[in-house]
Amino acid sequence: MSEPFTLGETFDGALLANAPRVRLSRRGIIMGLASGSVFPFLTGCSTNLATGESQFLLFGDDQIAGMAATAWSDMKAQTPQTSNTQLKNRVLNVWDRTIKGAAKTGHVNPNDQWDVAVFDTDDVNAFVMPGNRVGVYRGITELTENDDQISSVLGHETGHVVGKHAAERMSVSTAAQVGLMAGQIAVASSEELSKYGTAIGALGGAALQFGVILPYSRKHELQADKLGVDYMHQAGYDVKQSVRLWELMDAQSKGQRPPEFMSTHPDPARRADELRTYINARGYALI
Ligand SMILES: [Zn+2]
Repeated sequence: MSEPFTLGETFDGALLANAPRVRLSRRGIIMGLASGSVFPFLTGCSTNLATGESQFLLFGDDQIAGMAATAWSDMKAQTPQTSNTQLKNRVLNVWDRTIKGAAKTGHVNPNDQWDVAVFDTDDVNAFVMPGNRVGVYRGITELTENDDQISSVLGHETGHVVGKHAAERMSVSTAAQVGLMAGQIAVASSEELSKYGTAIGALGGAALQFGVILPYSRKHELQADKLGVDYMHQAGYDVKQSVRLWELMDAQSKGQRPPEFMSTHPDPARRADELRTYINARGYALI
């Protein structure tokens, strides 16, 4: 039996807490492998047109959208949404401006429909699920000091969608599990999967988690941070506030974090540094 998989790419990079879990059964994966239906894209990597990077994708967003629809409706059924209409409208207004900024880059279609919910919990986080579903927790809105920082959160979540991070994370996890089950993963012609295959063969389960899956998640977080800043810039928000937000996140989470190598999160101070470097390099501002 494969591990349950949590759908939802978060702001801080942690696995989404309290999210409904989806499970691909071992039998389902093996039968799908045999029929070719689980791995229709196994012959190689695809290039993400927005990021320009080669990605290992066994699934497209459309293939996991059904699971995400269930997870999202379960989430909405289980977690109360805010009754504070002022807060909800504020988030929706910032969302509207941020997504229009993202559309200016050509990374998202301006006609796409999005479902944005503000959940009434203390979690200092936000998340996005495949199918353009964005969740923001009241807790993170209370940490933020201005709309620019809220835009930074929403831009980051948009970045996860543009980067197809959910599909890639699920693809890598599934490939890893199939590799462990079958004892080999040499089915791939792609350089990336071969690399994982070697790592998986040499290391096994726990090391797979530390050596392959966690660094992968951290890479996605940093990419989403940078895409988010691009969208903020296009929307006319102050991109420097993304750095300030990560300084606030750092102060807020001091002493509660595992070492970076054991975590899906890049260290908040590192995220602030990487954003500062990126913002300077792009010429958005000098900080
Ligand atoms: Zn994230």
